[in-house]
Amino acid sequence: MDLKQHLIRLAQAHGPSGLEGPVREAVQADWQDLVDDLTTDALGNLIGAKWGSGGMQPRRRIMLAAHMDEIGMLVRAIDGSFIRVASLGGIDSRVMMAQSVMVHGKEPLPGVVASKPPHVLKAEERSQYPATEDLLIDVGLSAEEVRAKVRIGDPVTVDVPALDLVADRLMGKALDDRACVAAVSWCLHELKTRQHRWDVLAVATVQEEVGSRGAEVAAYHLKPDLAIALDVTFARQPGVGDGDNAYALGSAPVISMGPNFHPGLGEKLADAARRLEMDVTLDPIPGRSGTDAWPIQVAQSGIPTALLSIPLRNMHSPVEIVDLGDIKRTGRLLAEFIAGLEEDFLTTIAWKDPLAESAAGEEKTA
Ligand SMILES: [Zn+2]
Repeated sequence: MDLKQHLIRLAQAHGPSGLEGPVREAVQADWQDLVDDLTTDALGNLIGAKWGSGGMQPRRRIMLAAHMDEIGMLVRAIDGSFIRVASLGGIDSRVMMAQSVMVHGKEPLPGVVASKPPHVLKAEERSQYPATEDLLIDVGLSAEEVRAKVRIGDPVTVDVPALDLVADRLMGKALDDRACVAAVSWCLHELKTRQHRWDVLAVATVQEEVGSRGAEVAAYHLKPDLAIALDVTFARQPGVGDGDNAYALGSAPVISMGPNFHPGLGEKLADAARRLEMDVTLDPIPGRSGTDAWPIQVAQSGIPTALLSIPLRNMHSPVEIVDLGDIKRTGRLLAEFIAGLEEDFLTTIAWKDPLAESAAGEEKTA
C-alpha cells in the first residue's frame, strides 16, 4: 500500500461536515481490498468490517474511529457576481484570504476568496482581518450566471493540491483528520497478514467538526466492546506548544490520558508499543477531548475508549503538515494491539466492582 498516494487522494477529496460523499468514495475505493465488508450507515459513516477468528459468540469487537469530514463553508447569500458564505465547522477567516476554493453547486465551480488590493486598504483595515461574514467568493461569472449555478446552502471547500514536502512530510488541506483515516488504513493493511481474534470495525466518521455526531451514531449502532478514536493534535511550532500540550512532528503515537479515556486501555496500548520497541508520547487531557472519543465513551452502557493522536502543524488551515512516519507508527501500533487482543481482554481492564466485593466480603463473614 502506497501510504503517501493514499493520503494525497484523501486530502484532495472534498467533504465538509454533512457532505462527505466524495471523500467517502475515496476511502471506500482504498478500503475495498483491506476489509471483508463495507457499509454506509444512515448518517454517512463508512464502516469497514474485518472479521476476527475468535470462537467466543458473539465475537468481541473493537471500533476504530477517524473522522473524514473537513471544515468548510456554506453559501449564505449571492451578492451580485460574488458569493457570501457562513463558516461550517470552524473556518479561520485569517487564513482564507486569496485562497483557491471550490463551490459545489449544480456543477463544481472553481473560485477564489476575493482580496482587496493593498493600495486601497484603509489604515484600520491593515491591522485587522475580515470576519467570515465579510469574505467574498469570486467564481469569475456574471451575476446572472452565478444565480443560475449557485444555490443558498451549497458547500464550499478550499481547493489546494497536497504537496509532497521533503523528509516524508505532506502538506495539504483536511489532513485533520484524513491523516488518521490513513493510519486506520495502515492498520488494516498490516492486519491483512496477521491473525486477530476480535472483529475490527474501522469507521471513517462524519460530522466530527460540528460535534462528533457521526461517531455518536456509529458507537450506538455498532455496540463495540472497545473503541479507539484517532485525531490530530497540535504540533509544536513557534508560538504553539511552549509548555502547552503540543508535540513535535515525529513524536506519534500520542496516547491521551484523562477522564475521557479508559486508563487500563491506555496502559495496554503502551504495552503494545513496548513490544514493538516503539516510543510513545503521553498527552494529559483533563476534560473534554473535543474528539470522537467523547461521545463514544458514553454510548450504550459505556465503552472503554482510548484516543491516539498524530501531531499536525497549522491546524484548520489549507497548509496543514503531517509526518508520514507518525501515521505509519500509529497504524502499526493499532495492528499490534489488535493482534494481541485475547478473548478475555475485557476482564484484564475491568474496574473493580465495589458491590460485588462487598457481597463477597459479607459471604466470608457470614
Ligand atoms: Zn479532527
